[in-house]
Amino acid sequence: MKADFVLTGAGRLVTCEPGLGEGPLGVIERGALAAWRGEVVWVGREADLAGEVEVAPDAVEVDARGSAVLPGLVDCHTHLVFAGDRAPEFAARLRGEPRATGGVRETVRATRATGDEDLAALALERLDRFLSWGVTTVEAKSGYGLTLEQERRLLSVAAGLRHPVDVVRTFLGAHVVPPEYDDDPEGYVTLVSEGMIPSIGQLAEFCDVWCDEGAFSVDQARRILRAARAEGLGIKVHAEQTARTGAAALAASFGAVSVDHLEHATEEDAEALGISRTVAVLLPGASLGGPYAPARTLIGRGVRVALSTDLNPGTSYSENLPLSAALGCALLRLTAEEAILGITRHAAAAIARERAIGRLARGAACDLVVLGAASEVDLVYHYGANLAAIVVKGGRVVGGAGP
Ligand SMILES: [Zn+2]
Repeated sequence: MKADFVLTGAGRLVTCEPGLGEGPLGVIERGALAAWRGEVVWVGREADLAGEVEVAPDAVEVDARGSAVLPGLVDCHTHLVFAGDRAPEFAARLRGEPRATGGVRETVRATRATGDEDLAALALERLDRFLSWGVTTVEAKSGYGLTLEQERRLLSVAAGLRHPVDVVRTFLGAHVVPPEYDDDPEGYVTLVSEGMIPSIGQLAEFCDVWCDEGAFSVDQARRILRAARAEGLGIKVHAEQTARTGAAALAASFGAVSVDHLEHATEEDAEALGISRTVAVLLPGASLGGPYAPARTLIGRGVRVALSTDLNPGTSYSENLPLSAALGCALLRLTAEEAILGITRHAAAAIARERAIGRLARGAACDLVVLGAASEVDLVYHYGANLAAIVVKGGRVVGGAGP
């Protein structure tokens, strides 16, 4: 078996593939990995590497020096492309003042007024920060344009980003009702369903709807999701964030790839999700101060739980995905193993890339992060510290602070 990339010296190779090693994370002690043209071709004990893999003379060789090695992290819920600054609104909220500015609409105003190049530059800076934390794939939603032209423009900007971090695109025209439709929200639902969605084509892989009190009703969301399904888009739903509306059950009934937020989800919602394949994406950074999503109830019902930053300028301005995992442990009572699966394997499932990324196994992408720590638990234990020592994407070293 030929290899043009070899990783050795992994004290703990965390494959996130239980069949390959110990425990729920499939850990191989003193592990090694080989890849060919960006794809993993071999994982195992380093002692077996030489006998099974023929390493090309010019292969990239990475020595993990005894550290833990994880799959490249996956952030499966971000609002990556936006302009504007809502720090004053954040500060006002902390002072207990009612919303001084217009929330999402403020970002819509600023984003519409910013040109493509500047929007791309802002998004690229955010991708640099994601990469610095060991993230190698992010999902990115539109939703700050809210006209057909502007929503297409935001998706095109996301599609044009040239960066080592892969960007998976989601159409979120149904984020909020834009001011132009204050008197006619149904008219906006029609525009999204009959105007925008049929025009998306290859610009997005998924369609998301914020179905909640103050956003779109269950009936409106159903119209939009039907249109999305007819166009072959995968389904995602922002659900049960500000109130319990039945959005989670709606998502499950549509076979959504993910249902996100769930702060007000009930036992009944967990049951509906438990009999679906829908992944629950929990966003602890967006609900600091509570209430928190019922992660243990969801896991108890067999729901796969992913964790994400929810990077956005209003409620969660952070690209620090390991911190989201730490918050998942502290606030949602996840175990370290559950939190790590939440930013790797289950996050990959939440963007329909279950086999391709989020795990280190034959056939998966050679995306990995060498930690500056001996144990993967440090990712949630030593919270706030950046432990991404070496970041590899597609078999190339693309970032990291160094071991
Ligand atoms: Zn969101």
